[in-house]
Amino acid sequence: MRPGTPRSPDVVGVRCDAHTHLHDPRFAGAGLDISLWLRARGGEYACAVNATEEADWDDVTRLAPEPGVYPAYGLHPWKVSARKPGWERRLRARLETDLRAGVGETGLDRWIEGHDLDDQLRVFRAHMEIAAELNRPLTVHCLRAWGAMRECLAAGPLPQCGFLLHAYGGPTEMLSEFVEMGAYFSFSTYFTDPRRHRVRDTFARVPPERLLLETDAPAMPPPRRLNENPLEDAEDGSLLNHPANLSLALESLSGIRGESVAVLEERTAANFFRWWNGPAGVCCG
Ligand SMILES: [Zn+2]
Repeated sequence: MRPGTPRSPDVVGVRCDAHTHLHDPRFAGAGLDISLWLRARGGEYACAVNATEEADWDDVTRLAPEPGVYPAYGLHPWKVSARKPGWERRLRARLETDLRAGVGETGLDRWIEGHDLDDQLRVFRAHMEIAAELNRPLTVHCLRAWGAMRECLAAGPLPQCGFLLHAYGGPTEMLSEFVEMGAYFSFSTYFTDPRRHRVRDTFARVPPERLLLETDAPAMPPPRRLNENPLEDAEDGSLLNHPANLSLALESLSGIRGESVAVLEERTAANFFRWWNGPAGVCCG
């Protein structure tokens, strides 16, 4: 921060995780009571909690009253084939019931086996239309579908408050075009691995006012040797990502950009609250 730049009292000391799935029942299985963990953070933590399919929307709604939680509802591209008719109407109803709520996780994925990109596109466009109409934060997933993603976003409509390309792994050359469209980009705990040169180089070039941090917890854990908050799935022993690993993403991004942890913490918090509060003044109290 430049000397003399005024600080916003709302964001100082708040760490913001722009993309999580904290409603995931695997946390309880691993012995982590997420509600207690959130309450213990007090006002020092905020996070988006993203549903992935209609079957988990109620879980997100149950977690929504906990401190710092910003709920979001949608259909993940891996789950689109399981959708039931009328989901758009029910999504709209959720958003109208909770004026803080965002849209997503949604998006495009050509990495997953058996994908149907045309079907994913239909569902993604429906999310875009609803988010634009209600001006809600839109959370976008994209793997190996950047050409289609760019085309789809360029055609719009998009919410005025902006959208997140979570764990952005797209080409560096596309950054400026996405910025023009209103994109934010979140740096993932998964990118803390120093071998992920390409994506780390990209994050050195993201404009400061569009930077965010994310864990995607319980998905996308950092490399084992960096992970100070190990958490194991009770069923298969696989490594889960602990939401406390957000600190690791913050420190790693600080190293990449040559900016202090304090500056990045404050900037990513300001960006998170600007995105969620939106220019239309949707209240996220
Ligand atoms: Zn996710």
